[in-house]
Amino acid sequence: MKTGILQAALAFAMLCCFACTSRQTEDYRILSAGIAHESNSFIPYLTTEDDFVQRRGREATEGRAWARLLEDAGMELIPTLHASAGPSGLVASETYEAFRDEILDGLREAMPVDGIFLEMHGAMHVDGYPDAQADFIKQIREIAGEQVIIAASFDLHGNMSQEFIQGLNILSAYRTAPHVDGDETRTRTAALLLEALRRDLSPRTAHIKLPILIPGEKGITSVEPLKTCYESLPEIANKQGLLDASIFVGMPWTDVYRAGMSVQVVAEDEEHYTEAKQEAQKLASAIWEARFQLDFDVPTASLDEAISRAQESDSTVFITDSGDNVTAGAAGDGTLVLERLLAHQVQDAVLAGIVDPEAVDKCVEAGPGAELSLSVGGKIDHVYSQPLPIRGQVLRIHTLSDDPSQVAAVLQVEGIKLVLLNWTLAFTHPDQFQRVEIDPLAHKIVVVKEGYLFPGLRAIAPHTIMALTPGFANQILEELEYTHVRRPIYPLDPDMGWSADQVLPAEN
Ligand SMILES: [Zn+2]
Repeated sequence: MKTGILQAALAFAMLCCFACTSRQTEDYRILSAGIAHESNSFIPYLTTEDDFVQRRGREATEGRAWARLLEDAGMELIPTLHASAGPSGLVASETYEAFRDEILDGLREAMPVDGIFLEMHGAMHVDGYPDAQADFIKQIREIAGEQVIIAASFDLHGNMSQEFIQGLNILSAYRTAPHVDGDETRTRTAALLLEALRRDLSPRTAHIKLPILIPGEKGITSVEPLKTCYESLPEIANKQGLLDASIFVGMPWTDVYRAGMSVQVVAEDEEHYTEAKQEAQKLASAIWEARFQLDFDVPTASLDEAISRAQESDSTVFITDSGDNVTAGAAGDGTLVLERLLAHQVQDAVLAGIVDPEAVDKCVEAGPGAELSLSVGGKIDHVYSQPLPIRGQVLRIHTLSDDPSQVAAVLQVEGIKLVLLNWTLAFTHPDQFQRVEIDPLAHKIVVVKEGYLFPGLRAIAPHTIMALTPGFANQILEELEYTHVRRPIYPLDPDMGWSADQVLPAEN
């Protein structure tokens, strides 16, 4: 009996406690927004409004797992603009300002809100802005106030700054590169926002910038030394008083002070911030200690050497044209590989593909079976490439996606099957080869414009060589002319010393 009374009293006390610290989730209003871009500052042209996929209102949340999680929890979701574009040059200031102002107007109209969910990339750089992402969050905060919980999801190739992060409460980045956990990360971020609101938390994120600048190809999460570091993240996130942990590999082709690796640990509140900072320091130290092992996980070679080695192979060799890596923002219209394949008189190769809308139009006009002379590629990237005159036979015309305006033409140019594209695309999966009726494994050499070979192709490739070609995504960072990146930084200053617990404010 006594126990029964005690239990009842306890239950009543818990109920009172719950009632005074929590609200019904149906009361919560969450605004969602996002501007996601990976900006390559070595590219001499800007990314503008037309390059972005822009989703507004319900269109931005339909079928999205993170949105479903919030709505299923009874939250009122108020989506504004979610804009995202593939990697390319700096974002034009008027494009950024139009997107930002639309989101800010949406926020003003929606106020009061309890939380904000942001879908970001983290490597956006806007022409004329030192740190547009910091500007974005600062302006959001000015309207939303300090009490609103802001949670943002990121690609791990983001270049994070202290100024940006201090405007956020919660952040979470992908834990896989090549990326296979985009939805998972966004849903985890939304779940953390939900938890913070339900438990009435005031999360704060500890951030440490490492002086390490590497291409993504040296930061693969399934390969040591990063494998162990990434595997430790859920364990850190589960510690008492902590919510999440992230490692950013960073984006090295953006010449900004904030470029490079960083780690973040999210504390539930101010009380646990010191612990979050200590965990971040431990993680940063582990990565710093292992910096010499951050290396390519596939064989690399000069282009000529890669072609020679592939010709000697008895099974298919995938060569990646890493300098013209479309997935890192390069133009995808470089002709260097085609020129060298022809010079080597390669008899059995596939080159997928070269971006050239003008040449595709001519192939479509001529039709399958027609022989024609063309000047292909080198029309977008004038820096590292030039148009190459060729003569070939149109084999087929295809559409690769549900968008009928996206056309690919397959040409036979001597011993090479050349895929010409009228829009920018990287061949990252066997399905794309199927759409152009090419069996990659039936050929000796297959060239694709990426850095690391994406998982779908890696799964079928008997051999792969990363050709260290020049271009907007040059893998040899020592060859690039940096003027804004922080110095010293590894590996540009290979002998430098650094300690994670002696971070100066200016280094943030
Ligand atoms: Zn990425």
